[in-house]
Amino acid sequence: MQVLASKHPGSPLQTRPVWSGGWYKFAHHSPSPNFGPRPPAGTISLVVVHSISLPPNQYGGHQIEEFFHNTLDHNAHPYFKGLEGVKVSSHFLIKRHGELIQFVSCLDRAWHAGESSFKGRSNCNDYSIGIELEGAEYDGTFEAIQYEALSSLCSSLVGEFNITNFAGHEHIAPGRKKDPGAGFAWKLFQRSLGLADSFFPST
Ligand SMILES: [Zn+2]
Repeated sequence: MQVLASKHPGSPLQTRPVWSGGWYKFAHHSPSPNFGPRPPAGTISLVVVHSISLPPNQYGGHQIEEFFHNTLDHNAHPYFKGLEGVKVSSHFLIKRHGELIQFVSCLDRAWHAGESSFKGRSNCNDYSIGIELEGAEYDGTFEAIQYEALSSLCSSLVGEFNITNFAGHEHIAPGRKKDPGAGFAWKLFQRSLGLADSFFPST
């Protein structure tokens, strides 16, 4: 368990763990009702990187959070009509200015991957952690501060869980999903983590 060192002996920071019940201390916690238990014997080994924007290609609103909370106003935009009744979530969202929000405990199963398979193993939601980057569904680029937040989060995830791979939604649901897309800099992400090629998609 990682513990933040404190310059102020006796302060609560000294003993407050970075991870508590699967919740990350440095994220804003905004619990979503959209989750379930992981399979009993399941170990968490995969991180899935996504991108999302609501409405498509528009940034800065709170519609993604509302979507994950089942409170999206479906009359507010024509695109939202198609999302009516759709219940999804991710463990984390990193917004354009680097704000990190956590919706589901990493110990629970968030609903981010859908029908999916990684290295012959289906149902990626069972054994993965989902991270959404606020960005265009594909071909969009991401802000430097989003990479910084993602890198900090993922290095902590690697320290806390038995993570062996990172993949994009496009890699675990090819033909159905295109996010995060060609605009996501996997090499930059890899360099920031200092992990071997074997952790990352071969593209
Ligand atoms: Zn996705």
